Amino acid sequence: MNKKDKIKLFTSTLFELYPDALTELVYENEFQLLIAILMSAQTTDKQVNKVNRNFFHYLKKPQDWIDMWVDEIKDFIDSISFFNNKAENIYKTCILLKNEYKNIVPHDVDELQKLPWVWVKTAKVFLSVTDNAPFLWVDTHVHRVLNRVWFVTTKTPLQTDKIADNIFSKGDLAMIHNTLILFGRYNCNARKPNCETCKLQEVCRYYKNLKRN
Ligand code: SF4
Repeated sequence: MNKKDKIKLFTSTLFELYPDALTELVYENEFQLLIAILMSAQTTDKQVNKVNRNFFHYLKKPQDWIDMWVDEIKDFIDSISFFNNKAENIYKTCILLKNEYKNIVPHDVDELQKLPWVWVKTAKVFLSVTDNAPFLWVDTHVHRVLNRVWFVTTKTPLQTDKIADNIFSKGDLAMIHNTLILFGRYNCNARKPNCETCKLQEVCRYYKNLKRN
């Protein structure tokens, strides 16, 4: 099978497996989505959702966070990593959103990065969810899967990120981003990938090597 056909099969298999792939973060509006993404750094989506089930009941717009005591916020989120830094930086983000953006989260990578603690990754993840924007942000899951199937041979997610956008067609990138994260999380996980039942066996170099040994 040539590379083009492999990519086609890879993409269609993922889209079939996760036809409604979206972020697993729970939110009710775009402001909450941005906050949830910021909270999820170095923490699982599951843990963020657990905290936000209660927290988002009180936090619907930037002013709600501004009106709370910082210690009160920390109490809400103290089960997630780096909660002190996260609470303080998200507070600053809320101030800026209120003062400079009329409480509306901007839909532009550069504008988003003007918010404290919003890096290019955050901006791309946010826009791929809200706007289906053509970004494929490479996290450890995406990096692992792309290396296992051998679309890339890289050592770090950062190296993979520099070339991953060019593997897939632009129109597929947002969907690929969401499906790959789910696929890496639930099918092709780091310790025990479900190779024996995987529909990507035909295009996967890792699986072929497994069978050879
Ligand atoms: S065959 Fe195994 S290693 Fe390859 S993509 Fe599927 S689960 Fe991952």
